[in-house]
Amino acid sequence: MTCDEKIVWGLLGASNVAQEWMHGSITAHPDCVVGSVYSRSRERADQFAKQFGLGRSFTDLQAFLDDPELDAVYISTTNERHPEEAIAAAAAGKHVLCEKPLALNVADAQAMVSSAALAGVVFATNHHLRNLETHRAIKECLASKALGQLEAATLSFTVGLPDSLARWRRGSSQEGGGVLLDLTVHNMDLLRFYFDAEPISVCGMSPDDTVDNPNLPQENATTVWQFADGLLLTCQDCFRTPYAGTSVAIHGDRGSIFGDEVLWQRAQGRVYVKDASGTRDIPVEHRVPYDRTIVDFVNAIRGRGRPSVTGEDGIKSLALALAASKSITTRTTVRL
Ligand code: NDP
Repeated sequence: MTCDEKIVWGLLGASNVAQEWMHGSITAHPDCVVGSVYSRSRERADQFAKQFGLGRSFTDLQAFLDDPELDAVYISTTNERHPEEAIAAAAAGKHVLCEKPLALNVADAQAMVSSAALAGVVFATNHHLRNLETHRAIKECLASKALGQLEAATLSFTVGLPDSLARWRRGSSQEGGGVLLDLTVHNMDLLRFYFDAEPISVCGMSPDDTVDNPNLPQENATTVWQFADGLLLTCQDCFRTPYAGTSVAIHGDRGSIFGDEVLWQRAQGRVYVKDASGTRDIPVEHRVPYDRTIVDFVNAIRGRGRPSVTGEDGIKSLALALAASKSITTRTTVRL
């Protein structure tokens, strides 16, 4: 592919997130077009093709991947399907942008990333939070050391799961449902982005009914993450709190930074700092986070940098979310 040629994408999965967000962000990039969709269902494939004016729709995965016009795939099927589909896409020589969590276990996620490396294609994970301007502003403040020694932090991803998204998230741990692989995994990517450091241990809790039933995905989990420098970070992740709102708060001995309503897909929210001089807002120019994902992905294909969230980042966020799950189900602190 030359630098002038368009990158032709295929949507691997007729999903809500592809429909609501990713088709728009892919086509917002001047070098990208979406050419095809794959779905197991002929009806969903046709409906997507019609809605987005796509020339080709497939219900046969290999035929979709063998399309010589296809350059890159966006995988947004349910979580248990990601490994097989990503490995097949890489083997067919297509660049892969894969939804989080990459897989249901770390070995599968590693196999996905290795298969892309072997095939010489770009592989990226679609964690969006670090591409929101609010979180970039928070990271900049942390990097300036203006808050002093960091002591405590809370990420509250406390939402109400709408019925339209509940089908597999609430129903089935086989498809990777539950709050840990849906929301906690995003928080894990965010904390790695904020601090450029890995936590050293985790202790988590969930209501007893889900802890005692491995087939019931957890919908409410609180986890405490310890860092080597003494920071203790709490994640509250819940599907059953529609009025809570989402927030970030990070406290040091010289100041605190807050992000209100910043853990959403939509670019929104307020960031402000409190310290000895009072309270002041940090101005943020909101932008759709997935647009940056696509810009960085295209640059990586063109040999100009790396994706915003790499495959290795996706393996790490998954490993941390699974460590939280282990802590909850074994009722122990897990060393990382
Ligand atoms: P959906 O339930 O909308 O779609 C997932 C898959 O389920 C589709 O690819 C489709 O597969 C199948 N499907 C869709 N509708 C139906 C239906 N009515 N009955 C049966 N099967 C159906 O999932 P989401 O869009 O909510 O999530 C998809 C992935 O994206 C997940 O991995 C999730 O974690 C991730 N995600 C990431 C976000 C982010 O910000 N990074 C945000 C939201 C989700 P097929 O067409 O092949 O049949």
